[in-house]
Amino acid sequence: MKILGEDIPPGCSTQLYMDIAKLPTRTHVEIPVIINRARKEGPFMLLLAGLHGDEINGVEIIRRMIRAGYHKPISGAIVCIPIMNIFGFINQSRMVPDGRDLNRVFPGSPQGSLASRIAWTLLHGVIEHVDYALDFHTGGASRSNFPQVRCVLDDEDSTELGHVFSPPFILASKYLDKSLRKTAKSIDKSVLLYEGGESLRLDEYAINEGVNGALRVLHHLGMRKDSPPVESMPVVLKKSSWVRAKYSGMFRATAQNGTYVEKGSMLGVITDPYGEFEKKVTASYPGYIICINYHPLVSQGEALFHIGY
Ligand SMILES: [Zn+2]
Repeated sequence: MKILGEDIPPGCSTQLYMDIAKLPTRTHVEIPVIINRARKEGPFMLLLAGLHGDEINGVEIIRRMIRAGYHKPISGAIVCIPIMNIFGFINQSRMVPDGRDLNRVFPGSPQGSLASRIAWTLLHGVIEHVDYALDFHTGGASRSNFPQVRCVLDDEDSTELGHVFSPPFILASKYLDKSLRKTAKSIDKSVLLYEGGESLRLDEYAINEGVNGALRVLHHLGMRKDSPPVESMPVVLKKSSWVRAKYSGMFRATAQNGTYVEKGSMLGVITDPYGEFEKKVTASYPGYIICINYHPLVSQGEALFHIGY
């Protein structure tokens, strides 16, 4: 096994640094990569978070796993990258300083922009050398995702892993162009995308679901002896769409994330700050609420509730 060009023999426990950039101040920016390989042969797994720098629940999920020693497998190897977009993490931003979304520039290029170089190094230095990856995300902006994994349902490998992970929801989601998930699939790697909570907020429930799901996947692959029990089977959502704001104004969600709603159910209210109107937001079809926008100010057409069915 080689990671970032370094040999990782059986029984090896090490920390490498992905050298991705030099700042105008000559400062080198290096991303810590924590690797543990068992003596026994087995699958190679990447635990990845912070591809979007402000999505910190995943950082906490991997941190807790390292702290508890869950990153030391009984077979195979676990590679942990808790913060992939270190720039975004420091700046509390989704993006890399060149303004790009790291998850939309794969496979990247060694001569490209900063984001493109980081993607290229991650792909060739790490992802090419593992069999599986768990990629931890949250909702963007003020949108809070109820814990879910995203799978292409026709892809049996990822759907099976999604069921093993057993979050509350499995959402059918196509491969996005230039995403890590699509690029990794093209070289036959299984990437499971977990979404839980919102950016820049630690969400205890989403963190616990993430840790428990990762442990179930590691157990399933023979990399850990035990795993947390599954409390209820995930609900598979084949389709989803957004309830959008019909008015601009101040918005309050009244419905609970993760719950089932009937067509016409009250979800929230949009008001005019000058007391002119109070308009109900209702469900346009029955389904499960899997994301709520908690931003108090909304513009007409803005996505408010993601409902899966
Ligand atoms: Zn993300």
